[in-house]
Amino acid sequence: MTPVAPTVMKFGGTSVEDAAALARLAAIVAARRAERPVVVVSAMARVTDALVRAVARAGEGDAGGAMAEAAPHLARHGEAARALLPPAEAAEVEAHVRDAEREMGGLLEMIARQPGTRLPLHDAVVSFGERLSSVLVAAVLRANGMAGVAVDARRCIRTDAEFRRAAPLPDETRRCTRAEVLPLLEEGGVPVLGGFIASAPSGATTTLGRGGSDYSAALIGAALDAREIQVWTDVTGFLTADPRVVPGARRIDRLSYAEAAELAFFGAKVLHPRTIAPAVERGIPVRVCNAREPDAGGTRIDAHAEPSPAGAKAIAHKGGITVVQVTAVGMLGVYGFLKALFDVFDRHRTPVDVVATSEVSVSLSVEETDALPALLPELRALGTVDVEEGNAIVCVVGEGLRTTPGIAARVFGTIRDVNVRMISQGASRLNLTFVVKDDQAHEVVSRLHAELFEDR
Ligand code: ADP
Ligand code: ASP
Ligand code: MG
Repeated sequence: MTPVAPTVMKFGGTSVEDAAALARLAAIVAARRAERPVVVVSAMARVTDALVRAVARAGEGDAGGAMAEAAPHLARHGEAARALLPPAEAAEVEAHVRDAEREMGGLLEMIARQPGTRLPLHDAVVSFGERLSSVLVAAVLRANGMAGVAVDARRCIRTDAEFRRAAPLPDETRRCTRAEVLPLLEEGGVPVLGGFIASAPSGATTTLGRGGSDYSAALIGAALDAREIQVWTDVTGFLTADPRVVPGARRIDRLSYAEAAELAFFGAKVLHPRTIAPAVERGIPVRVCNAREPDAGGTRIDAHAEPSPAGAKAIAHKGGITVVQVTAVGMLGVYGFLKALFDVFDRHRTPVDVVATSEVSVSLSVEETDALPALLPELRALGTVDVEEGNAIVCVVGEGLRTTPGIAARVFGTIRDVNVRMISQGASRLNLTFVVKDDQAHEVVSRLHAELFEDR
């Protein structure tokens, strides 16, 4: 008899943040033991932020200050271990914490002495969040009668050498993940991997970008041909809007892969934007669940595309967007102009989110602006360039937008007093995306939510 396909269960930062969260995690995994769980964990909440600050302090030459940022957060692993584990197991976790402290201290001193090492060592320093949380979680599972085994995810997820936002090498990742994880599952173990962290061909530690543990879970799920990829977090699934902006946002039972990918891409932080692709490739459903209310249901994401009667299913938004406008009278119709324009963004590895063209100009929205100082002179060779910071993208998503007439009129009618900078009825036809000023985004999202999702 072939064994059941494993289930990947990813727990985010708040779901491993302290002893109480870890006890809930153990109960959730124990209740699903028959599903052959493979556990993927984030760093404890706030740890990665602290480690990023530590790298910055070290980069300013202050190794002592850097360690002072990190140390209290490393100590949290020991505190949780003492609260939850038998003394011998707790002592073992504490020994890991001391080793981490020593190794990290060396890295931070190196960065402080030689600022040129800051980027290549950044990921090695921040990786300790997930390295320690995975060791701790495996021990907590053992203390609860399961065969938890910590697996160093850097031996599984293999990437290029682009520090801070490395791209996975799919074949290598599949081969290595299977080689590391399948034998453990066959012995009845519960493998526990840190999300977010990976390694380059040189062996150097890399990371997948902030929030990347969801992506790790999807890559591991795809590599193992998992039955389901579960993302356990602090909300009861995908909601109709960001609950920090719309407190009355409601849970969505089902989303198609395409809808979830659009929402994640346009700012719904509950899933890292790259999470959906590996799941689509292998046809694995993704489920978003609440670790604080494990029986409250959640959102199931799969290939099934069902329009909701209202047309729209959710609103996403992201701020910190810069609009770049290139005006080139007489050039737009000219063959090759748009290619030349996009080639500039490509060369500087700067993704463009929304594009709008008129007779004489092209507007593009970008989120990553690190390369703009180098990129703008090349754009100026093509036309007059205007740069406007402080914008936000708002995106209304739903398979039903394809077939619901009048949705754009309803959306823009609701915000008729707001200056809308760019509009794009997404190429996929399941989104309506536009750009407004950052300081109006929350107001726009709230009003649209009331119009599209709240009974009046
Ligand atoms: P984790 O640490 O578990 O990865 P995150 O903080 O990365 O959790 O993601 C969960 C958060 O995403 C929620 O607490 C919520 O504030 C935010 N969020 C933004 N948009 C949405 C949405 N549409 N649905 C649910 N959560 C959302
Ligand atoms: N710990 C990482 C971060 O805070 C990855 C994650 O939590 O998904 O960005
Ligand atoms: Mg997250």
